Amino acid sequence: MDLRGGEVPDTLCLPLTAQRETFGLLYFEPRANVVEAAVQSTYLLMLAENIGLALANLRLRDQLREMAMVDALTGLANRRQLDAVLGARVAGADRRAQPISCLMIDVDHFKRFNDNFGHDAGDMVLREVGAVLRGALGDADLAFRYGGEEFLMLLPGLDAEQALARAEDIRAQVSAIRIVHEGTPLEPVHVSLGVATAPEHCTADRLVNTADAALLRAKSQGRDQAVVADRRIERSVA
Ligand code: GH3
Ligand code: MG
Ligand code: MG
Repeated sequence: MDLRGGEVPDTLCLPLTAQRETFGLLYFEPRANVVEAAVQSTYLLMLAENIGLALANLRLRDQLREMAMVDALTGLANRRQLDAVLGARVAGADRRAQPISCLMIDVDHFKRFNDNFGHDAGDMVLREVGAVLRGALGDADLAFRYGGEEFLMLLPGLDAEQALARAEDIRAQVSAIRIVHEGTPLEPVHVSLGVATAPEHCTADRLVNTADAALLRAKSQGRDQAVVADRRIERSVA
C-alpha cells in the first residue's frame, strides 16, 4: 500500500495483519495536520504492522496457555490449573470466613468400559461425565479433570451438607447417562464421590487429601455412593 504521493485522505484505515490474518483496523481521523504529517512517512504502516504482530503474539500466548491448562478430552480445567488456583480459592474462602468444599469423583470400574467396549468408548464415558460436572457448576464453582478417570470439584462457600447434596445430585445425573457407542449401548456409568469441607473436616491445605480419603471409603463401602469426611474433632479423638 502506498500512502505517499497522493492526496491527503480524510480518514485512514490500516488493516492490522500478521501471519496472514487480519485482527482489526487501525482508524485515524485528522486532527490538525497529524495525519498529513504522518502519511508522508511510513510511520503509520509500521505502527499497524507492529500492533498486528503484538496482537498475534498475545493470541498465540492465550492459545498456548489454554492448551496447557485445559484437558483436551473433556474441556475441563486440568490438574495444572488446579495447582494454580487452589491456593487462591482457599485463601479467598478463608478471608471471607466462608467454608470451601471439595468433591473427589472417580468413575467406578471404569477400566471395564475400556476392556469391554474399547478405548474410544472409555473416552466417551469420560466426556459425558465431564459434561455432567460442567452442568452442575454454580457461579463460583470449578471442575477439573484430576487425572485418568478422576475428577475434582471445588465449591467455595458450600458447607458439608450443601456439598453432599451436590454430590448426590451428580451421582444421580451420572447414573442416568445413556451412552451408545458404535450402535452398542454401554452399561450404566456410576461414580463414587468423597466430600470434604474446610474448616469443618480439615484445614484448607488438607482439603484435597481429605476428600480423597473419603473417596477411598466410598470405594471400599461398595462404590456408587458419596461419603463425607469425618469431622475434625472425631478424627482427633479416634
Ligand atoms: P475403581 O472402581 O476402583 O476406580 O476401578 P477403575 O477400573 O475405575 O480404576 P482403575 O484405576 O483400575 O482403572 C482406570 C483406567 O482408566 C486405567 C486407564 O487405562 C484408564 N484411563 C486413564 N485415562 C484414560 C483416558 O483418557 N481414556 C481412556 N479411555 N481410559 C483412560
Ligand atoms: Mg475408577
Ligand atoms: Mg481412579
